Amino acid sequence: MVDIRYDEDAGLDVLKDKVVAIIGYGSQGHAHALNLRDSGVSVVVGLREGSASSRLALEQGLEVLNISQSVENADIVMILAPDQVQRTLFAEEIEPNLKEGAALAFAHGFNIRFGYIKPSAAHDVFMVAPKGPGHTVRREFQGGRGVPVVWAIEQDASGQAEEIALAYAKGIGGLRAGGIKTTFKEEAETDLFGEQAVLCGGVSKLIQYGFETLVEAGYQPEIAYFEVCHELKLIVDLIVEGGISKQRWSVSDTAEYGDYISGPRVVNPSVKEAMKEVLADIQNGSFAKRFIEDQESGAPEFKKMRKEGEEHSIEAVGAELRKMYSWRSQNDDYVEGSAAR
Ligand code: NAD
Ligand code: MG
Repeated sequence: MVDIRYDEDAGLDVLKDKVVAIIGYGSQGHAHALNLRDSGVSVVVGLREGSASSRLALEQGLEVLNISQSVENADIVMILAPDQVQRTLFAEEIEPNLKEGAALAFAHGFNIRFGYIKPSAAHDVFMVAPKGPGHTVRREFQGGRGVPVVWAIEQDASGQAEEIALAYAKGIGGLRAGGIKTTFKEEAETDLFGEQAVLCGGVSKLIQYGFETLVEAGYQPEIAYFEVCHELKLIVDLIVEGGISKQRWSVSDTAEYGDYISGPRVVNPSVKEAMKEVLADIQNGSFAKRFIEDQESGAPEFKKMRKEGEEHSIEAVGAELRKMYSWRSQNDDYVEGSAAR
């Protein structure tokens, strides 16, 4: 049975005399730090010396320390640096400075599930992972709402790990929407599967094949872009609002009939077999191993694939067409065609 907690199921009192160190000030880091601060929790932000994010955190009224110092005095250390750097960060700067009995927290189960971080049994280890990007977590909080979270307890050394995790989830606004209990194993495996098979990997490849099919058949790339990429947002918005059923209710009967006839031809049972293989590689740790090994040798494979993706002809066509939309996103720091990010 699913275990969902809401605001009234948690209290902030357990955080009253505690200091929370937020390590990293990116997408999640800034949202957690600011939301907790606005909930009355004592927060420090731990950043590398000379970190570009430091000025921003200071401007937003937060205390910024280097990572070691931020950990030394913290009762809860939430690690919000990129997953691939967490293991080194933990070994070099966090573990040696961790206070006795301090809790360690994560927003993704990756490093614990795949054994890259092995905290001593004396520490609580919990997860609070918002099911949305950090910028949405902050924006919703400021609007009096919240983004749903999943939460998990890996180690309960204090006997209070659950109370602390729920207080943290409440402090970032997550329990206004609801917090579903999970495990590090379930969250890590399903999160990786979702982004690889469907959300990031699956959808990107589906769009590229659709675009290539139309362009190779002689249709204008601009028209192909609209049909297989741009309109995806309209479809996804409907699915998010009311499921696949609402999407089918909203589109024409022609589109709905074509969905039933051709969907299963394109995404046929062999795709499900491939998905099972992807899941097996996640579960047996081989995906994690390949990712971390590549990252630790300077990410040559990752950089090559990123560059190839950015050079696909759909990207140049899309960049021009998106200029036709006056309301395109202007509130993030993404730079089009930035292969060398
Ligand atoms: P991010 O890339 O946006 O930010 C990471 C921050 O860490 C940087 O801004 C910087 O302050 C710091 N940092 C970068 N490199 C570092 C290094 N080498 N050493 C120390 N600090 C460094 O990361 P994010 O997307 O916020 O992800 C943080 C965690 O949250 C990850 O575990 C991720 O899986 C999880 N998460 C992310 C999202 C999301 O939507 N972005 C959603 C749920 C969970
Ligand atoms: Mg995810």
